[in-house]
Amino acid sequence: MPELPEVETIRRGLEKHLVGKKINELEILDLKLSKENLSHVKSVKVTTVRRFGKGLVIELDNEYSIAVHIKMTGQLIFKQNKQDILPDKHTRAIFKLENAAVLYFNDIRRFGWIKILKTDEVGRLPFFKNLGPEPFKNLTPRYLQEISQKSNLPIKTLIMDQRKISGIGNIYANDALNLAKINPSRKAKFLTEKETNKLYLSILEVLNRGLKYGGSSEVNYVNADGNKGKYQNHSFVYNREGENCLNCGSKIKKTKVSGRGTYFCESCQK
Ligand SMILES: [Zn+2]
Repeated sequence: MPELPEVETIRRGLEKHLVGKKINELEILDLKLSKENLSHVKSVKVTTVRRFGKGLVIELDNEYSIAVHIKMTGQLIFKQNKQDILPDKHTRAIFKLENAAVLYFNDIRRFGWIKILKTDEVGRLPFFKNLGPEPFKNLTPRYLQEISQKSNLPIKTLIMDQRKISGIGNIYANDALNLAKINPSRKAKFLTEKETNKLYLSILEVLNRGLKYGGSSEVNYVNADGNKGKYQNHSFVYNREGENCLNCGSKIKKTKVSGRGTYFCESCQK
């Protein structure tokens, strides 16, 4: 599932391609994606593109916004013209832009969604309203320590809970814990303040690394230009079972924590 670095990379691409441009029309091809009234998305200009956790919001100049969640397999791909390989059978919506440009929403597994709502109501969408603080914005070492002390969950499960911290999923949770040398199965409440401080810095570092490599494309994530990210070739432990830990050189193991595939190093993650 795309996480903060992937969705932020898409946001930056959309910002480059959409801001100041006119959306002539939004065509929804799959009613599972959206049953919204599309009358507010006709001949409107895009003013800004924002991100809330793993969700995106395209703000329009008529006081409405388009909220988009790509969930597991959604893609938002900009094309300057239509004579390309898209649309294809996974195209669920088409944003028709000025000068014959197009933005395609593709989604193989069809969990993604689009909602159209007043811009001042975006923060009240249930999905956005319940998001916890976000790394790079309002997440602090102190807050991380506080939620850890109160939690009986494994630390890895806690930092992936979007209501507690937004933007971290399985890939970056695995890697942040390796970098912080903390075992992912440890109960959060037993972490010391020193460890939660280290984890906080490690979370920022792996997310920055994710951004630097344009996100992770081990499934079918692509950026707004349709290009894959490269983080999957630069992860610390994620998807590297049997390979060497970058901290200490020992073999990386795979296990499950709260049902999710978990990669870690027994030697240096305590
Ligand atoms: Zn190690």
